[in-house]
Amino acid sequence: MGETIYPVPSAWPADALVNDASYHAMYRQSVEQPDAFWRDQAKCIDWMRPFTRVKETSFDESDFGIAWFSDGTLNLSANALDRHLAERGDAIAILWEPDDPADAHRAISYRELHADVCRFANLLKAQGVQRGERVTIYLPMVPEAAVAMLACTRIGAIHSIVFAGFSPDALAGRITDCDSRIVLTADEGLRGGKHVPLKANVDEALAHCPGVERVIMLRRTGADVSMVEGRDIDWHMAVAAQSDDCPAEEMNAEDPLFILYTSGSTGKPKGVLHTTGGYAVWAAVTHRYVFDYRPGQIYWCAADIGWVTGHSYVVYGPLMNGATTVMFEGVPNFPDPSRFWQIVDKFGVEIFYGAPTALRALMREGDDWVTKTSRKTLRLLGSVGEPINPEAWEWYHKVVGEGRCPIVDTWWQTETGGVMISPLPGATALKPGSATRPFFGVQPALVDNDGVVIEGAGDGCLVITDSWPGQMRTVWGDHARFFQTYFTTFKGRYFTGDGCRRDADGYYWITGRIDDVINVSGHRMGTAEIESALVAHPKVAEAAVVGMPHDIKGQGIYAFVTTNAEVEPDEALRKELVQWVRHEIGPIATPDVIQFAPSLPKTRSGKIMRRILRKIGENDVSNLGDTSTLADPAVVDHLLAHRPLLA
Ligand code: ATP
Ligand code: MG
Repeated sequence: MGETIYPVPSAWPADALVNDASYHAMYRQSVEQPDAFWRDQAKCIDWMRPFTRVKETSFDESDFGIAWFSDGTLNLSANALDRHLAERGDAIAILWEPDDPADAHRAISYRELHADVCRFANLLKAQGVQRGERVTIYLPMVPEAAVAMLACTRIGAIHSIVFAGFSPDALAGRITDCDSRIVLTADEGLRGGKHVPLKANVDEALAHCPGVERVIMLRRTGADVSMVEGRDIDWHMAVAAQSDDCPAEEMNAEDPLFILYTSGSTGKPKGVLHTTGGYAVWAAVTHRYVFDYRPGQIYWCAADIGWVTGHSYVVYGPLMNGATTVMFEGVPNFPDPSRFWQIVDKFGVEIFYGAPTALRALMREGDDWVTKTSRKTLRLLGSVGEPINPEAWEWYHKVVGEGRCPIVDTWWQTETGGVMISPLPGATALKPGSATRPFFGVQPALVDNDGVVIEGAGDGCLVITDSWPGQMRTVWGDHARFFQTYFTTFKGRYFTGDGCRRDADGYYWITGRIDDVINVSGHRMGTAEIESALVAHPKVAEAAVVGMPHDIKGQGIYAFVTTNAEVEPDEALRKELVQWVRHEIGPIATPDVIQFAPSLPKTRSGKIMRRILRKIGENDVSNLGDTSTLADPAVVDHLLAHRPLLA
């Protein structure tokens, strides 16, 4: 399964930034002479004071520490804005598409964005915001969210973005954890035609956050909201009085840049802290090479700024590289499932980067929504967030990209700051479902449960053996948890939490979270493989597989299956799917239970929350753990109410 190989298309430009030969040469230098390699690559951004030190890192307990470019100074906001003004000031930085296609879009030039950022930065300063202070951002996908981020980094404040779909409780927890005095929000958000009461959520959250002194509120919908006297101020009114001149603070490379809480797929979210220099270099370099990016190309990453993908690949990476970055306020299926591709046509998008969850949802609706659009400007597609099943990959490639566009399946984490394993479009032959090869400077390894390194082809826990510039530096407020979480499972190595297979060509295949690896009669099985087999069935839209206790086999296989929109699941289909998996993978992978479900529990970022499904599989449903990042709790209630009777 999934062993079809797609070579670099012959039509791919010969001047690709990296081709197969240069990939190998550059990769070798990046790991054998990291100082020389990164000294050179770090020139892709502007430094105020050049660094002389490059890599000062150790994953060992005795001298543990991670620092990059530590005596250099820079400012990320200046790198994203100021340095483009002379040559590209009138080029479009942000193309914003509103939720409702009937409303006007916005095109904001680098010069305009720079002025907006300076004004807002001056407003923050007028509110007493200091270097190193945490600013919580709870904003929808509007250009002002990017303005807020760039204004914080301009003055050296640390932003902590909380996805605007989170509940008041989740927001309050994050505000308290990083001790924010100031919160930026909007009256309401708009997603898929629905109004999200952001200001009301903030008011509710702040009942539990006595430390918050100021709320700056953007009017997005003009809804009638209550303003707390002496605490809340109106964004546009306050910013109008500010000057558009705000010099960028000179920051040390290791000064904190932002905090971002992980999605909570596996447990309580962690406040991941990134610092300035290493993150800036990593975001810029990965964006440039992974997307073979040249200034002026219309680029669209469909992630929300509430996730790390939105940080690195909607805002910072693209803007440092002088891109025109598309920002979309809405959702893929509003007003109808053609929306993504209509936006592609509207703006002439050349590079599209999205998540498997959205692709599977759109695939479920049928090809017509795609094929009725032109998409002739598309040259490159990307995927991020979860393993992309080969079935969804093939659909993305054939239907969306008309067989013409390479797909970069990018494996990375909030913790890694940017892409770690991914094809490079001009260099890498593709295998559907594989994230393929490591990016420059990334040294992946597979280890067994005892930490013994697996050489050559094999299957194990994915670790990274040495540091890379974009690596997180700590868990906010809990450095011991940082070391404990990532560096003690396998001593001296960064532990990703993901299971992975490496094939004979050295390609990496993420098999799912380690916690989700199931052991059936002594055979280790990645859940991703069984899920992909299920999704490959023409009637199945989505599947999640977990282990369940089994007297004879140790663990059995419990599959949750969502069928295509027009299919009515029944006993015959259940039997058919069991046979299908036996045929696709083998009898060892025979599902013991298949539960049909109209939808699966997902995090707000669209990832399937397997830890909840695991509890259902284990019949241990009295305490489902932290569900604060769950997108729709009703989905879980439905699953609980419709559990099949187990013998
Ligand atoms: P938490 O760490 O709180 O449990 P999370 O791991 O979902 O949440 P993120 O940092 O958003 O938080 O997600 C990173 C994870 O997403 C990776 O560890 C991996 O499991 C998965 N992932 C991301 N991209 C890919 C990809 N291209 N292929 C396979 N898995 C991916
Ligand atoms: Mg994680």
